[in-house]
Amino acid sequence: MKSVILRATIVAILAVLGSLLAVVTVVPMLGGVVDGNAWLMCIVCPLVTAWPASFYMFRQGDRLKQAYRDLARAHAQLAAAHRRLEEKASRDHLTGMLNREAFFALLDGSRRKADRGALLIIDADHFKKINDSYGHLTGDKALLEIVGAISRGVRAGDVLGRIGGEEFGALLIGATDEEALVVAERVRREVEQISFSPLGDGTIPLTVSIGGTTCKAGATVSELMRSADMRLYEAKSRGRNRAITDGNMSAATRKFASFTGCVAAEV
Ligand code: GH3
Ligand code: MG
Ligand code: MG
Repeated sequence: MKSVILRATIVAILAVLGSLLAVVTVVPMLGGVVDGNAWLMCIVCPLVTAWPASFYMFRQGDRLKQAYRDLARAHAQLAAAHRRLEEKASRDHLTGMLNREAFFALLDGSRRKADRGALLIIDADHFKKINDSYGHLTGDKALLEIVGAISRGVRAGDVLGRIGGEEFGALLIGATDEEALVVAERVRREVEQISFSPLGDGTIPLTVSIGGTTCKAGATVSELMRSADMRLYEAKSRGRNRAITDGNMSAATRKFASFTGCVAAEV
């Protein structure tokens, strides 16, 4: 408020000075005389008009600036809340991994940027039996143990998502088939080594089967999923607790893959 009064006063003084200057130059030029009344009007008129007008203008300007600052702050808070909400909506609530939609969106985005990399599908073995024998809550705990093991098995920077109930996806950024098999084996071993003893009497064995495929040029997300699924199917049918990628899949899977037109099958 103080600065508004000060600025309005400065404007009013300038207006008075301007008015005086105009009167003392123009009136004599027109043959008139600047008398006491003229001096008084030169001072009073600008003061009673310029001061209130500029006071009002400056105060409105300051209010507008304050409103703009409030709006900018509210906008930043809204943007932060939106980011938090978006982040929350893209996460699976049990495991904290990306949910199915977010994982596939990320996979799709990464396919558009680069053709390299590998996709692993990791599926818990005989998980229904764990639920049936020990209950759903114990099943949840087992699932979290498996998630921990998967996180330890992948490399820093790889992206994980929960793509189904007891099924997870891992996008191994820039990985070759050899690297994909190394990571898949490491994940498989990490899970196998879990000592899961929720009831304190004996351990419940946990294992996963893994199907992996490298990201070939031009392959779409659904082709990659189909390709990785085929290798997962082979891992399951060969006894589970196994990792199968492009390099170690059987001739039968390779033949079936090329028969179904899976791009990623062309190793
Ligand atoms: P396979 O080795 O062939 O994969 O056998 P599986 O029993 O793991 O596969 P199936 O598809 O028959 O069963 C999956 C089970 O996973 C059934 C479902 O109840 C369980 N499951 C899925 N999501 C969750 C979850 O969030 N928590 C718990 N506790 N169980 C889940
Ligand atoms: Mg399963
Ligand atoms: Mg499954």
